[in-house]
Amino acid sequence: MIIENEIKLDFKDVLIKPKRSNLNSRSEVKLLQEFKFKHVKNYIWKGIPIMISNMDTTGTFEMALEAAKYNLMTCIHKYYNLEDWLKFIENISVFESNLNIFNHIAISCGSKNEDLLRLNTIIENIPNLKFICLDVANGYTESFVEFVSKVRELHPDKVIIAGTVVTREMTEELLLKGADIIKVGIGPGSVCTTRKKTGVGYPQLSAIIECADAAHGLNGYILADGGCTCAGDFGKAFGGGADFIMSGGMFAGHLESGGRLIEEDGKQFKEFYGMSSSTAMNIHSGGVANYRTSEGKRVLLPYKGEVKNTIQDILGGLRSTCTYVGASELKYLSKCTTFIRVSQQLNEIYGK
Ligand code: 5GP
Repeated sequence: MIIENEIKLDFKDVLIKPKRSNLNSRSEVKLLQEFKFKHVKNYIWKGIPIMISNMDTTGTFEMALEAAKYNLMTCIHKYYNLEDWLKFIENISVFESNLNIFNHIAISCGSKNEDLLRLNTIIENIPNLKFICLDVANGYTESFVEFVSKVRELHPDKVIIAGTVVTREMTEELLLKGADIIKVGIGPGSVCTTRKKTGVGYPQLSAIIECADAAHGLNGYILADGGCTCAGDFGKAFGGGADFIMSGGMFAGHLESGGRLIEEDGKQFKEFYGMSSSTAMNIHSGGVANYRTSEGKRVLLPYKGEVKNTIQDILGGLRSTCTYVGASELKYLSKCTTFIRVSQQLNEIYGK
């Protein structure tokens, strides 16, 4: 047994130090960024590197259409079949197709054979899909590493996101095996109970800082997945070196989200649950298999209406973070960031 004594940090443990700058207004801040990828040549992605999580309560087609208008990405959940995908593509209006929806969606895939078959079939039918997200809870297995190489061989022209990991060596391994973007975050999610059930995890800000450093040395990127509870956490994740951020909870509970709308005592709520919760397993896999336990929970969120308000709130917050530290573009935020460790982040006397 080994103990590492170095302190590891979460978003709540730090604040960003303001700095003198010559930016006069947050409207001067540019959030749009351009990315070239390690394994995919002749393709430049332009957008705001925030990705809505591939949970069935957030990664919906409805969400993707709305988020694309703001240049965000949506990682579409894996429970849509080919027919659903074809219908989605067929029904996109001229206005929406002008958004070039394929720059704003990723298709998700697990690591089972049946997942790969489904992925291949959908891509054969919709070859314009550009982003693939290979998503497993534990990205540390040999079989997952082999799976990433296999998908890279099969799809040389696709941007591959792979994870989930939280440490430097596995970030490097997956990048070298064919991934372009490494998904980072074990246990920080709002409806995740992995840390409680298994004792496994890594404070998210430190995971971002360490994995970003490893990825950038190899011309790769990281996608910081989970744990953003407010707009300020997005600023901290980008400040820590995240190239992309994935978030579920911030986008749940809206009109465009999945999950049932429930009315209780005259108030409206929307269901939100982890993809490893018993709720999700009951819906998608006929219950929790007897060799495993659920590692997610179900909550009811007060209904928040259209997601555009939340998107604007997050983007407004990010512009303001950049203004406070003198970053004229989001891509400079990390260079301009100095974190200070704090014992208290928020004044919660009137609630959170
Ligand atoms: P959030 O943004 O809500 O804090 O975190 C979203 C992330 O939590 C997702 O992108 C996914 O990686 C993770 N997640 C979703 N459902 C579950 C679950 O049931 N268990 C665990 N361990 N993680 C989950």
